Amino acid sequence: MTEPQIMIVTGGSRGLGAATARLAAERGYDLCVNYLGNAEGAEAVVREVEAAGRRAIAVQADVAKEDQVERLFETVDRDLGTLTALVNNAGLTGPSSRLDEVAVETLQRALDVNVLAVMLCARAAVQRMSTQHGGKGGGIVNISSVAASLGMGGDYVWYATTKGAIDSFTIGLANEVAREGIRVNAVAPGMVATDIHIGANDPDRPARVGPTIPIGRCGEPEEIAEPILWLLSEAASYTTGAILRVGGGR
Ligand code: NAP
Repeated sequence: MTEPQIMIVTGGSRGLGAATARLAAERGYDLCVNYLGNAEGAEAVVREVEAAGRRAIAVQADVAKEDQVERLFETVDRDLGTLTALVNNAGLTGPSSRLDEVAVETLQRALDVNVLAVMLCARAAVQRMSTQHGGKGGGIVNISSVAASLGMGGDYVWYATTKGAIDSFTIGLANEVAREGIRVNAVAPGMVATDIHIGANDPDRPARVGPTIPIGRCGEPEEIAEPILWLLSEAASYTTGAILRVGGGR
């Protein structure tokens, strides 16, 4: 019998995280759907995963808080079993503005959710997956953004900066645990029409920017979920430390 594949998706209640959880269930994973406040969204994803024949739990936790991350992973240990995959997806931009108009609270929250949380969750995953800790290995995919290399001047340079940090972290951690059975990669999506643009106070952004993207449109959440699942699969067994740009040419 093959070992069960067990995945945590942070921010799995909507957007790219929800699409990733749905596709992961189709590919045979049991799921922990983490969320911050949207219990209804997370429960809906849990029901879809269960309808696909897999086990699923929804776990509320602010992944920017160490004690809540510990509780999230301990819940998975107890209720699902040995973690094999982590998708560090939860993220936000904060309201769009120039840097000289931004509130320090916006900068702090972006750093906490987009960077600190990714490191806290990856730490908890490595503690469980690493062969050095008696684990059986696994895969981590961090969600970066094409913003890391675009810089996003005038929109949210702090957000782009956090995603640049994710790219560095992905390469460094991949090297650190490469001989411990863990592959660490990143997907850097281009623009996808999700609620993140509402959080940026710019809900029309996908409609405005879509036609300017070389491929002529925004991406669909499923088009980001697919490369995430590929990076976690055995088909990507020699791929670690990669930052896979999925931006329609942007
Ligand atoms: P979204 O639709 O706004 O969804 C964000 C998700 O993150 C929600 O599930 C939310 O939970 C969760 N979340 C936010 N803060 C959290 C916290 N502190 N703890 C736990 N969960 C938290 O965003 P999205 O567009 O799917 O983005 C997902 C990832 O892709 C992000 O890392 C983002 O930077 C990246 N990305 C997005 C785009 C794009 O154009 N959409 C492009 C490039 C990269 P609740 O539902 O409970 O609030």
